[in-house]
Amino acid sequence: MNDPGEAQFPPFPNSRATAENRLRTFLPGAARYAAHRNRVAPGHDGVSRLSPALRHRLILEEEVVAEVLSRHRFQAAEKFLQEVHWRTYWKGWLEFRPQVWRDYVRKIATWTTTAPGPLLERVEAVCRGTSGVAILDRFTRELIETGYLHNHARMWWAGYWIHVERLPWELGADFFHRHLLDADPASNTLGWRWVAGLQTPGKTYLPRRSNLERYCDPGWLADDTGLERLEDDVVEPARVEDTASVEIHSLPKYSTSPASPPGRFGFWLHEDDATLEIGAFRDWQPCAIAVGSTMTSGPFSSLGRQRRIHLSRVLCDGGDRAARHFRCPVDVLASGALAESLGNWALEHQLQEVVGYAPFVGPGSDAVSEVRETLSARGIRWTPVQRQWDAELFPFARAGFFPYWARICKRLGTGEDQERQLPGF
Ligand SMILES: Cc1cc2nc3c(=O)[nH]c(=O)nc-3n(C[C@H](O)[C@H](O)[C@H](O)COP(=O)(O)OP(=O)(O)OC[C@H]3O[C@@H](n4cnc5c(N)ncnc54)[C@H](O)[C@@H]3O)c2cc1C
Repeated sequence: MNDPGEAQFPPFPNSRATAENRLRTFLPGAARYAAHRNRVAPGHDGVSRLSPALRHRLILEEEVVAEVLSRHRFQAAEKFLQEVHWRTYWKGWLEFRPQVWRDYVRKIATWTTTAPGPLLERVEAVCRGTSGVAILDRFTRELIETGYLHNHARMWWAGYWIHVERLPWELGADFFHRHLLDADPASNTLGWRWVAGLQTPGKTYLPRRSNLERYCDPGWLADDTGLERLEDDVVEPARVEDTASVEIHSLPKYSTSPASPPGRFGFWLHEDDATLEIGAFRDWQPCAIAVGSTMTSGPFSSLGRQRRIHLSRVLCDGGDRAARHFRCPVDVLASGALAESLGNWALEHQLQEVVGYAPFVGPGSDAVSEVRETLSARGIRWTPVQRQWDAELFPFARAGFFPYWARICKRLGTGEDQERQLPGF
């Protein structure tokens, strides 16, 4: 398959092999993670850098958790385990409240078309890395050039955008979503809402000079231009209005272990889950596999260069592994109208059914109704399947992280089912 990512050595995992390698390298450090995770320094050695792989399920959360627990006692690696479970928590939280995603998408369109010119000019300036605060501009360049930012840098950056620049959080989140290799509709949207004070009302995240000086590499702060705007007694929380309802809806119901279809069927592999060969489908025999992204058309199609390359490499890798495992043809769908391409591909292979992992709330779930209708118009059934991990854990994410984590502890058999201090990001 054509691989535009091949030319450059990827510093972040963009295939299952590089993800396994990254996990192996990081594993001994999982016990040191709690002490080092907040430090923002060249190389980002204190954190796993697994998110560009976990986001696309090149490697699964359950695999990472199992590997960590095979090497460390729960208590030693608890902080890292908690963080991995934050990903699932945010996904479950958003599955319960898909309207929060829809409201976010609507607000991006509204801001982009109706915001006053000077506001949009300031948005542009900050996104170009010309905010005038040297350290923030350094992070902007890092994001654009590498597609990654340390969690602490994401919090400072988002906090600066919201509480110092007083810009609409949705436009900042959209900028992240276009550039981060791990861009995830749940972690990103809800991470931004958390910094804005919308997830835990009354609790905002303020970017403060003292915090930057404590955790950021001194070399990166050598140029302190503009840092006076982040003085502890200068930054005040912005009042951000929540326009989304956080009412809880029931979770969509999917099968987790369906029987292999009796007729001709194929798989659809997309960016929300690039590992078809591990899980419910392992022993199935599809006639064909289609690789098709939900991000190549629509409002999220204009992606940053690194993100585009990463996405393409992830899908190539998922397709290659699926081709080897299932020994059937794999077609990479042309970018553009996904539903139409998928429908034509299914007809070409005379399929009666297309099966795949159900995309999550975000561009994936937005694309699904059109996919279902287009297939149905051709007499072909769309069957979404859910991983057992999601089916088990998403229901725990109805409320706050506290009770969720208590249930996870019980599930992991740690005996730590009492509520503990709320873990921060
Ligand atoms: C404003 C903002 C936007 C964010 N946008 C995204 C995003 O689009 N995609 C994304 O994957 N993460 C996002 N995060 C969460 C977090 O910053 C990244 O997951 C983390 O920095 C990834 O780097 P790592 O793999 O080295 O993490 P590590 O520190 O090594 O953590 C291990 C794993 O735990 C999970 N994790 C860690 N922190 C979080 C968190 N706060 N929320 C959810 N999962 C977490 C990730 O899967 C990560 O790979 C965002 C956070 C903020 C504050």
